Amino acid sequence: MADDFLDFRSHAPGYWPASAMDQWDDHKWQLKNRISGLTDLEPHLPLTDEERAGVLLAGNKLAMSITPHFFNLIDREDPDCPIRRQVIPRLEEAWTAPEELADPCGEDSHMPVPGLVHRYPDRVLFLVTDRCASYCRYCTRSRVVSGVGDQQLETQWEAAFEYLEKTPQVRDVLLSGGDPLLFSDAKLEKILSRLSAIPHIQFIRIGSRIPIFLPQRITPDLCAMLRKYHPLFISIHTNHPKELTSEVRDALGRLADTGIPLGNQSVLLRGVNDSAEVQRALVHKLLMCRVRPYYLYQCDLIKGSSHLRTSVSEGLEIIENLRGHTTGYAIPQFVIDGPGGGGKIPLNPDYVLSRTDGKTVLRNYEGETFEYPEPTRAPADALTALKDRSACCS
Ligand SMILES: *Cc1c(COP(=O)(O)O)cnc(C)c1O
Ligand code: SF4
Repeated sequence: MADDFLDFRSHAPGYWPASAMDQWDDHKWQLKNRISGLTDLEPHLPLTDEERAGVLLAGNKLAMSITPHFFNLIDREDPDCPIRRQVIPRLEEAWTAPEELADPCGEDSHMPVPGLVHRYPDRVLFLVTDRCASYCRYCTRSRVVSGVGDQQLETQWEAAFEYLEKTPQVRDVLLSGGDPLLFSDAKLEKILSRLSAIPHIQFIRIGSRIPIFLPQRITPDLCAMLRKYHPLFISIHTNHPKELTSEVRDALGRLADTGIPLGNQSVLLRGVNDSAEVQRALVHKLLMCRVRPYYLYQCDLIKGSSHLRTSVSEGLEIIENLRGHTTGYAIPQFVIDGPGGGGKIPLNPDYVLSRTDGKTVLRNYEGETFEYPEPTRAPADALTALKDRSACCS
């Protein structure tokens, strides 16, 4: 099959010494060798002045951390490289726009127990860690993630489990953070087994960017453990087709072979994936990796994100350019998380032109107009006549 999944085994170690090659596939080596400060970064990559200032200012906001695997995807000649924009801080990040919020989705005010967000009737978001393999500069939870900001994530494990045990309307638990797959297999299994022992919990999901940042972590042992907790879904997070390398595709294949349905969440980011072309390439590669695009998020109003946010109409235009033009499975739902705590609100291009006079006037993806009438019910006398006719047939 024709594809363009870069084989990073043949590129590795990239910017690292050749000796790193032996340990490249070891996720512990990847974590230990993360780029996390100016002194690690500068020998590997010529920085712009804006990036150097951004790195220096990031230290008390959201830490910088980049796995060698992900760092290798950066094009060092291109200061606007879409990979680079996601993980290397820029000066603009230190500036807060008036519309920006520390807790853009209003999560802190929907926590019955610290670390457990219960906003929707039947499901909860369980923030199990504040650490990730690498940090995204637009992280919606940058107020707590990475542990360097003013606020700390103080998940109360026992109280959270007890709340879930006595709240029968919760049938779906989404583990997130931070990145739950950063836990050891044993620690993750403790959480999964405790949750799956609760009779009203019908299924568990994990939100993770580990398959992208650290595909080496998706080991056969991890998969063998996860397999015991079906039905288990995983939502990955990827934004640009370049992130889907052969190593990532193999890791996703291992999860899919484990029987885990995979979805993807993307954030619409200026200069990263704000074009129909990039989005189309991304969703097609995701399907080849057996991942169904799930949500495309309008970027939340996170502090210091204005240089990465787009207008809402750009997102709608992208969906307009996908729907009808490509596989329905490839099209994510575009959503805005209502600022301050509204939850996910779907946005769609306007395909309904009017709904009056017992009919809906629609347009299709090519702009042609169609009318769909409301149902006409059979009149009683017509039915009586038909019944009489059936009587003479018997
Ligand atoms: C996103 C989210 C969920 C899950 O929403 P789905 O639309 O079911 O994927 C649950 N709780 C919170 C607080 C969320 O932000
Ligand atoms: S992986 Fe998710 S939680 Fe971690 S920094 Fe990125 S967006 Fe935030």
